[in-house]
Amino acid sequence: MDSKETINNMNQTASRAKAVRQGKTAALLLTALLAVSIITVKAPAAADVHRADAPPVISIDPGHQEKGNNELEPVGPGSEEMKRKVASGTRGVATGKPEYVLTLEVSMRLKDKLEARGYTVVMTRERNDVDISNKERAEAANAAGADLFVRIHADGDTSSKTRGASVLYPAESVSATPELYRLSKSAAGIVLADMVAATGVKSRGTVARDDLSGFNWSTVPNVLIEMGFMTNPEEDRLLSTDDYQEKMAEGIADGVNRYITEIAGKSAWNPQPHHETFALKGNVDLYDRSGGKLIPTGAYLGPQTVTAREKAGQWYLIDTWLGGNWIRLPKD
Ligand SMILES: [Zn+2]
Repeated sequence: MDSKETINNMNQTASRAKAVRQGKTAALLLTALLAVSIITVKAPAAADVHRADAPPVISIDPGHQEKGNNELEPVGPGSEEMKRKVASGTRGVATGKPEYVLTLEVSMRLKDKLEARGYTVVMTRERNDVDISNKERAEAANAAGADLFVRIHADGDTSSKTRGASVLYPAESVSATPELYRLSKSAAGIVLADMVAATGVKSRGTVARDDLSGFNWSTVPNVLIEMGFMTNPEEDRLLSTDDYQEKMAEGIADGVNRYITEIAGKSAWNPQPHHETFALKGNVDLYDRSGGKLIPTGAYLGPQTVTAREKAGQWYLIDTWLGGNWIRLPKD
């Protein structure tokens, strides 16, 4: 129940008391209030919010969190089977780094890379000290109307020799519709292929799973990426280097972009004519658009007033001394 409903219900309760005292007049007032509440409580569905030219939405879930939560939640809608809300994850045998730290590092790089291609990115978390269950993470991606829900994880094994990357997707039996199953499976294959091409990681293939709460509560196409084994000393060290994380994030971004354009048939970059003047409060980086990506020019604008002539998602095209450049407005 949202706050508007609560207020309307309170109004109705108050009106009912009045109706007893004042008879027919108050009854008419009650009827009017009920009519108002019917209009105001209806919230728009996530899909209604999307405009035709709005960029696709990618929800990224950096796996795990600083403290696991052992409370239980149903593994899926209507299921009697209960599972821990969120496990604490694995840990690097060489680096000592916990999985939740690594997953956030790579996720933030992936966010930047997808935004630079024009996507709207919704993160389930940007900090480690959160408490969000796997069901809640899936629901956040559902509420965002995500075109793809990408969950970032790393693997662990009892053998220090086991290595490689895999991409998991929801089994047909737990997918909300056959279409969602088809989309998630396609996304898993494409993302894995592009990750392997970018990093050279050993492929362990794609795997359908019916036992993960984050899949079972999902109503959007959904993949879970196991980037490599933190229990393999070599792979653990590699996963923590800037160079490898950049390649990993770039490969995942390539796969996501290829899935969205080739399978979902959408475009992340739909600039529209747009006239708007902004007062920049701080420094804003200038980007060039080339090869389907936004590339930082290294130059920036200080506080000043600028006028946009095109808009693509959250990016605005303005004229500068360098020519036309794209800027992203800082969040307040
Ligand atoms: Zn994990």
